[in-house]
Amino acid sequence: MPPSNIVDGPKVATWNCPSCRDAVPRLLPNGQFNRVRLHQADMVLPENEIEAAAMGIPGPRANEVCYACAQAYRELLGTLIRPPGEEGDARGAAGLNDTGIVGALLPIAGRGTRVLIFHVVGGVLANTEIEELRQLNADRLTYPGTRGAIAPRLWALYEAHLVELHASSPPGESDPRP
Ligand SMILES: [Zn+2]
Repeated sequence: MPPSNIVDGPKVATWNCPSCRDAVPRLLPNGQFNRVRLHQADMVLPENEIEAAAMGIPGPRANEVCYACAQAYRELLGTLIRPPGEEGDARGAAGLNDTGIVGALLPIAGRGTRVLIFHVVGGVLANTEIEELRQLNADRLTYPGTRGAIAPRLWALYEAHLVELHASSPPGESDPRP
C-alpha cells in the first residue's frame, strides 16, 4: 500500500553558510553544531607569496562555515589542480608543467568562497586564477604519483601540506587519498 499520509518532519532550524551560501541545518545528525570555525591554517598555505595574495583579496571575511564546507576546505587546500579544459585523468601519472596548486580558500561574507590558484611564473609563486568555490570543476583536481614536470616549488608545497595533513589528522581518521 503506498504511503498516503506523508507527514512533514519537524521544521529544521537553519542558518546561512557564508561559503556555500545555502540555508544549512544548525545541527548535525550527531547533535553537534553545524558551524566550524576556520583557522588561518585551514585557509591559506604558509608561504609568503600566498599569504600576500590572500591579504589582497577584498571583502569582509567570514570565520565560520558549515561542516560540509569545512571538509571541502580541508580537501582542497594544497591540492594540485590542472587548467580548465585539460583532457584526461592525471591521477597516478606524472604531473604536467601547467599544474597549479590551490593555495588559499577565503570565505567572503555574503559572497561565497574564493579559491586562489597558484603557479610558478618566472620562478615566482604567482596567483594565476581566482575561482568561486561553487563553480570549481572538481575534475580539475589531480593527484599525480610523481612530480613529472610540475615546478619543484609547487611539488614541495604539495608534499609539505600532505605531511601537515597527516600530522593533524584526528586519531582514527584515515587519509582517503591513495
Ligand atoms: Zn557551507
